[in-house]
Amino acid sequence: MMKQEQILSIENLSISFRTTAGFVNAIRGVNLTLDKGGTVAIVGESGSGKSVTSKAVMGILDRNAVVNSGSIQFAYPKENGEREECDILSMTKRDLRRQINGKRIAMIFQDPMTSLDPTMTIGKQIMEGMMWHYHTPKDEAYKKALELLGEVGILDAEKRIRNYPHQLSGGMRQRVVIAIALACNPELLICDEPTTALDVTIQAKIIELISRIQRERGISVIYITHDLGVVAKVADYVNVMYAGKIVEKGTANDIYFEPAHPYTWGLLSAMPDLDTTDERLYTIPGSPPNLLHSVKGDAFAPRNQFALGIDSKEEPPMFRISDTHYASTWLLDPRAPKVEMPLELKQRIERMKQEVKNYGR
Ligand code: ADP
Ligand code: MG
Repeated sequence: MMKQEQILSIENLSISFRTTAGFVNAIRGVNLTLDKGGTVAIVGESGSGKSVTSKAVMGILDRNAVVNSGSIQFAYPKENGEREECDILSMTKRDLRRQINGKRIAMIFQDPMTSLDPTMTIGKQIMEGMMWHYHTPKDEAYKKALELLGEVGILDAEKRIRNYPHQLSGGMRQRVVIAIALACNPELLICDEPTTALDVTIQAKIIELISRIQRERGISVIYITHDLGVVAKVADYVNVMYAGKIVEKGTANDIYFEPAHPYTWGLLSAMPDLDTTDERLYTIPGSPPNLLHSVKGDAFAPRNQFALGIDSKEEPPMFRISDTHYASTWLLDPRAPKVEMPLELKQRIERMKQEVKNYGR
């Protein structure tokens, strides 16, 4: 059962892919909730299962996907304002397309070119969803498209609305994708690495834009990123994902200031730091496990300099650190030796805390 304040609740989600080499166990028991109007981030290295999780929520899993277990509950207001709940995983493709996709849940992908049609003007692409989902008359949809272009910060909307995607810069294209996503008034916006393909200076502007729109419209947002730095200022909750599992979750303060999982320590250490002149960027040694094979014990153990004997034998449970903060590492077992995060990271966190004190988050 979902709580009243929640809009999304993923429970025990497990997904494999059928491949010629065997089954890839991409998602291995994911739990995640999102409050109405809230922002959660899913952070992890490439291949950890972030996109598969978000595609499952959108109901657009690849054809070779097999859902082994779990549910994805989504709540939305009906026409009369009453709350309706559905399980995305048990809906037909047809119902999803008509009731959920694009209308209630919209998605922004890493590369704007993959979601834009190069043969259609951007105006037409913004109008399409409104006309299909709500039967909005053409002239009204046109007016709304102009407004949306303004809302996402595109100047000269009257002229731009007749442009084709190739006539726009990368940053502007992503703004158009956001306008398309907003056209049908979705309750949930999923942003899958929305800025990874963009320039650093434009990255921050796009994140700011999404965050402003979220505040103004009161929508809920899932940010997916491999870079913890990108979402530091906007996420209420952060889920750290590794090898198809969420290995640590907490409020932004829990994750940035009191990280408990050695993998999160690694991700935080790997964050580009604008304040230090140090050019060497830390990378976590080794690489994630091949999910074609079953994982024994803690999937992160082979890369973990703090690994314990039990790590190679038994999978760690989610240990509770506080009401908001959980992590799956044997280091939190009461019997484990006391291990501290690397000193360099500790100092970095102190600097981040100081910055928040001085400038706010
Ligand atoms: P990321 O965290 O980078 O978004 P993904 O969610 O895209 O990672 O992928 C998670 C794992 O699932 C990866 O090992 C990837 O290779 C695998 N995977 C994703 N889609 C498919 C597919 N259609 N067939 C086989 N394996 C897949
Ligand atoms: Mg991805």
